[in-house]
Amino acid sequence: MAAGLNTGIDEAPVFETTLTMPYTLTTGRAAGTYLAELANQRIVGSRSSSSGKVVVPPSDYGDDGEPPELVVVPATGTVTAWTRTSAGTLAMIRLDGADTDLVHRIVGDHFGLANGCRVAAVWASDAETTNALAGFELTDAPVEEAEVVPLETDTEPIAELPYQLDLDYQHSYGLYYGRMFDELATQRRIVGTKCPSCQSVLIPARGNCDVCFVPTAQVVDVADTGTLLGFSVINMEFVGQKRKPPYIYAEINLDGSATRLIHNVGGFDIDRTEELLSIGMKVRAVWKEGTSARGTLADIDYFEPIGDQS
Ligand SMILES: [Zn+2]
Repeated sequence: MAAGLNTGIDEAPVFETTLTMPYTLTTGRAAGTYLAELANQRIVGSRSSSSGKVVVPPSDYGDDGEPPELVVVPATGTVTAWTRTSAGTLAMIRLDGADTDLVHRIVGDHFGLANGCRVAAVWASDAETTNALAGFELTDAPVEEAEVVPLETDTEPIAELPYQLDLDYQHSYGLYYGRMFDELATQRRIVGTKCPSCQSVLIPARGNCDVCFVPTAQVVDVADTGTLLGFSVINMEFVGQKRKPPYIYAEINLDGSATRLIHNVGGFDIDRTEELLSIGMKVRAVWKEGTSARGTLADIDYFEPIGDQS
């Protein structure tokens, strides 16, 4: 497969892209307190009132189903398992007095790391609150009689955290979509495919006619003018919207094609839409200015009315 644009019909362009998913994480009481107390250089766990079992990080419910007591556990512990990753060394650490392991980074010089090694927390005072625990380092300090003590604090739990998940991936549009988007980006030209049976020109370009089920094979130019088949003024805002309302969403039949294209109509005072737009009128693509073509239908900014030229 070829990378980037400007490829022939026998090559499928591949586009580097990122799927970004921002969201807000609601932490809950236990995790929110754990995160908030990191700024105070304290590691919080929860202690079940019936079994006395100490869990780190804390849980909102104990093993008896009741809200447990929040406690501060020592910032020292013992490595029970570890692994090296491309992002560094990760270990399961049984903090002193805890009954479960905390997974965290091992930082600093840790040649000779082995199960059973003693480690101590490393605090990053200049980091964001939730990253204040930089990791754990090997320590020679003797095991002291560390104690799990009830948490006493005035610090508010962190109720919400902004998160963003970024998925980097390569997207191939395939031979037909790829060619079409390639032409949009590099030639400012709309292409479709022609069915040898019914002679229909199909947009988006596709490999088979969806009426005759025969291979289309031939790529043809399509005009960037067309007929307005329907339109709607969008006033509502919603997640993922590419344009700020109000704008006009329209169904357009490009001249020479047998299909409908969904795009925007614009280039005039939107308050005059009723007066200026009518079903059946001719429209023409207005291409985006400059060299920012990305090989998508958004390379066409909108379609503008060109009056009755049919
Ligand atoms: Zn056909």
